[in-house]
Amino acid sequence: MLFSQFFAPTSRDVPSEAVVISHQLMIRAGMISKTASGIYCWLPLAMRVMEKIIAIVADEQSKIGSQRVLFSTIQPAELWKESGRYDSYGKEMLRIRDRKDGEFLYSPTNEEQATDIFRKYVHSYKYLPLMLYQIHWKFRDEIRPRFGVMRGREFLMKDGYSFARNFAEAQEIYQRVFHSYINTFRRMGLIAIPVQADPGAIGGNMSHEFQILAETGESTLFYDGRLLNASAEEQLSIYAVTDDRYDSQTAPIPKEELMVSKGIEVGHIFYFGTKYSKPLDAYVLDENGNKLYPEMGSYGIGISRLIAAIIESSHDNRGIIWPEAVAPFDVTILNLHQQDEECRDIALKLYQAISSKREVLYDDRSISVGEKLADADLIGIPYQIIVGQKKIREGKVELKNRKTSNVELLSPEEVIKRFTSNGE
Ligand code: ATP
Ligand code: MG
Repeated sequence: MLFSQFFAPTSRDVPSEAVVISHQLMIRAGMISKTASGIYCWLPLAMRVMEKIIAIVADEQSKIGSQRVLFSTIQPAELWKESGRYDSYGKEMLRIRDRKDGEFLYSPTNEEQATDIFRKYVHSYKYLPLMLYQIHWKFRDEIRPRFGVMRGREFLMKDGYSFARNFAEAQEIYQRVFHSYINTFRRMGLIAIPVQADPGAIGGNMSHEFQILAETGESTLFYDGRLLNASAEEQLSIYAVTDDRYDSQTAPIPKEELMVSKGIEVGHIFYFGTKYSKPLDAYVLDENGNKLYPEMGSYGIGISRLIAAIIESSHDNRGIIWPEAVAPFDVTILNLHQQDEECRDIALKLYQAISSKREVLYDDRSISVGEKLADADLIGIPYQIIVGQKKIREGKVELKNRKTSNVELLSPEEVIKRFTSNGE
């Protein structure tokens, strides 16, 4: 991709309404544009990151046997009246009337709809367990939308739903999802702390939130320090809670011995048994022809929030530092002297050669050296290949690592080899 043709409206100005760094950087890097409070348009740079995140999430979902679907965003109110949530959900739900005055809503979540699909098509225990997920937009009319896409009203979520024959099977699925979430976040360069979040009705460890440690997080976490170095298996039973759930009577470790950090909730998983299958009368017949109501769970990942959370956990005072796995491009080529023929030739040669194997953004714009370097640091592509008059006369270009700022002086051939040979 040539930067001269790439739609990334970067800017120097720090927008006054943006109080957290990820919000500031997403606007300055030209990733998002505000439509209304808590509602954003997503521009090409952000889309490239979103696609990478979606690919990792989808890959991890298929590994645990979950199948991708796409529910409608608009649902009939009737379905939510069956579960009893139409009234209890409150003002966060965006309620809509169509031209015939029928009652609808924009999905804030899809437990009812997943259960409805199940009851329509699954009638035998032989098809259990079943796991479905989607990656789709939600709307929640949050009382205080803030921090950009971190707490939006319209946001993208991966939401999964599982149907099991019995408690043991439901528990096994829950653990499978738990492990896969740890892997999913790890692949994005994040350490997610699983904290116990009892949803109320059912005791035990059957609801966990996944929290990224970041100063700007809205949650305060108390956790056993061993969590940071434990395997996913061990993490399931190591103590961590948010401050609002801390209870000195039941906590296994006194508060003074727990670590305290702010966290951003990027995922949340629940086991809730027959909470929806019973009221919606979604059942299968078991081997004896008796009604069996599936034991369900639901599993969310905040895809759009994750983009901001990754920036919160990986940036410096010059801009974003994308972890390689989710970076919008693998490498950027900065031609500092666009008017110089030799620089142009070398930059173009590098661009063509590396593009065969990697995603490259070639900054071919006729702007000042300072602006070019500042934009590259702002948008945070992991590697910068800097082509400048002085070094070119010595047959060299610079390869800069965005994260470490480490610069290597290499020949163009060496750089090409670095990015195109399989071992890189
Ligand atoms: P929160 O406690 O942050 O309000 P929640 O518990 O209501 O979130 P869930 O229903 O558990 O959210 O949704 C699953 C995931 O969706 C959350 O872990 C979070 O990452 C994401 N999410 C929820 N609400 C928002 C929002 N308003 N904006 C962006 N992402 C959100
Ligand atoms: Mg939650």
